[in-house]
Amino acid sequence: MRIIFIGPPGSGKGTQAKRLADVHAIPHISTGDMLREAVAAGTPLGNKVQGIMASGALVDDATMADVVRDRLAKPDAGRGYLLDGYPRTLPQAETLAGILQDAGRELDAVLLVEVPEDELVRRALLRGRADDTEEVIRERLRVYREKTAPLIGYYRERGLLRVIDGNRPIEDVTARMLGLFGIGHEVAGV
Ligand code: AMP
Repeated sequence: MRIIFIGPPGSGKGTQAKRLADVHAIPHISTGDMLREAVAAGTPLGNKVQGIMASGALVDDATMADVVRDRLAKPDAGRGYLLDGYPRTLPQAETLAGILQDAGRELDAVLLVEVPEDELVRRALLRGRADDTEEVIRERLRVYREKTAPLIGYYRERGLLRVIDGNRPIEDVTARMLGLFGIGHEVAGV
């Protein structure tokens, strides 16, 4: 299973991605988590990306290509993986296509978690992390619309896109997501 999650910041895609990865027993690969770990550990990569991440901008495609190529070459990714936060630009999607082609693999699905923008801002402010000022949140959303949203058409054309309504209770979103993969899920009240 090789699955990509796309969704704006605050869509809950990380939570859903973890759940789907658990069900399939494949690694949940979040490039945001990997970069935050690099920042916390003070590695050269971390030092390079720290300021970029804090501003809500994207790390450059060449740096991300190295990060993802190394991660996908690890043994645990051999059986499949769930990518959360990569690709985030059309050039990144092309890089991933090249990595897959070299490995003789294909994607199984691209899940888009959709949530209206006002709800995203509300959720982000509720979360209230120190770096989540309204300005940075709006910048992340702007970058998503400009750089990442074009991936929706890219993967739809390739017949891979599946859309999930993320503006619902978490358990409900999980149930619908698992339903897309033909997996039953007991959810009280759904
Ligand atoms: P996330 O946790 O996925 O929202 O990622 C947090 C931050 O890490 C983003 O705002 C970007 O600065 C950076 N980042 C994570 N993944 C990528 C990517 N695929 N391309 C560029 N920057 C990324």
